Amino acid sequence: MIMSQFEEYCTKFVQAVGNKEGAVSPSIVNSASFAYGTPQIAEGIFEGNVKKPLYSRMGNPTSARLESTMAQMDGGIGAVVTSSGMGAVSLAVMSIVSAGDEIISIGGLFGGTYALFSETLSRFGVQTHFFDVDALQDIEAAINEKTKIIFLESVGNPNMKLPDIQAIIDIANRYGIATMLDNTITPLSIKPLKLGIDIAIYSTTKIISGNASALGGCVVYRAIQDEDKFRSSRYQDLHKIIQKMGKGALIAIAKKRAMRDFGMSANAHASYQTMLGLETLPLRVERITQTVESVVKELDKQGLSINHPALHQHPHHQRYLKDFQNGCGTLFTIDMGSKEKAFEFLNTTKIATLTANIGDSRTLALHMASTIYRDFDEDTMDFLGITPGLIRISIGLENPQDIIKDFLASAR
Ligand SMILES: *Cc1c(COP(=O)(O)O)cnc(C)c1O
Repeated sequence: MIMSQFEEYCTKFVQAVGNKEGAVSPSIVNSASFAYGTPQIAEGIFEGNVKKPLYSRMGNPTSARLESTMAQMDGGIGAVVTSSGMGAVSLAVMSIVSAGDEIISIGGLFGGTYALFSETLSRFGVQTHFFDVDALQDIEAAINEKTKIIFLESVGNPNMKLPDIQAIIDIANRYGIATMLDNTITPLSIKPLKLGIDIAIYSTTKIISGNASALGGCVVYRAIQDEDKFRSSRYQDLHKIIQKMGKGALIAIAKKRAMRDFGMSANAHASYQTMLGLETLPLRVERITQTVESVVKELDKQGLSINHPALHQHPHHQRYLKDFQNGCGTLFTIDMGSKEKAFEFLNTTKIATLTANIGDSRTLALHMASTIYRDFDEDTMDFLGITPGLIRISIGLENPQDIIKDFLASAR
């Protein structure tokens, strides 16, 4: 496994989070509101000419520090942090779409995102078409003048499918449609903006924070160019903001068309905790992705039904080797064959913590059909790859041999 890019991130994160003068740890600015001093300054802040905090729903100094580090991490022009990963998905999507628009969604999505698209947004007149990652022809055929977003995740959770991200970007660019990638596995695995994705989305709750200490999300935006898909007639209703704000317009669009009115704002304390997580992210990702590979290979060898693209029988194994050289995150699944067997495993394991989270320092496990996916009908479960015996595992920092031993004993 090539780890050279991680060195760059190690330096970037610790240097960005710590201060060289005064308090080394970033300060937490807990104030909800900010005093302007004079009416002239107040006017300037509201005009946007004076760069001072307006009100914490619209931006907070501690969160701004995290935003700048996250934007640097992805090579974006800026970022907006949110109260949760779902807050980030909502911010990114709702700042672009209006009633009558359509979304193309690719892959087996995170449950909350699937419900947002299939239930909530459809109540507001936004229709989503869902496709398997490899249905490229159908995806292209579904594009029409109402299509505003092509949305995908860098790795299917929990179906472990890997999209051909470049092929999907090429289709989107041919028709001038905005691409959004939920890259919760972080740019240490996949670098969305470098690949040509327009908008990168993160649940920072997961591996970025890394220890269940803070709920959070983030959307990273690229700069608007002189020739840009967002300047086409498809995105007519964004043009006023783009004309006024130029390069940084996508940030203004997110704040004015979603954050201000829906209020999914991050709080300063969570942003601070998230920065502490970022400092050690490269070390944890390196450790965990190596452990994932050794655990899945050993469990597979011992005859367990394991789903992970590092295994040669996985349909996207070649894509994994080519496009995911730094691994694809913390997850894999075990199919125990039945709910009873799955429960037996979960009642026996001493290593795994049973919880709906992923990307923690600890190894986590959850039976899918009886928890997160319990409200979905059979067809949807099928599409999302949820079988009765399916357990999702998120690998942590423990000794890989301890995990293997515990899992083999629990699967007997
Ligand atoms: C967890 C998760 C989300 C939602 O994040 P929250 O912080 O729980 O709101 C979105 N996308 C992916 C891929 C996730 O794993």
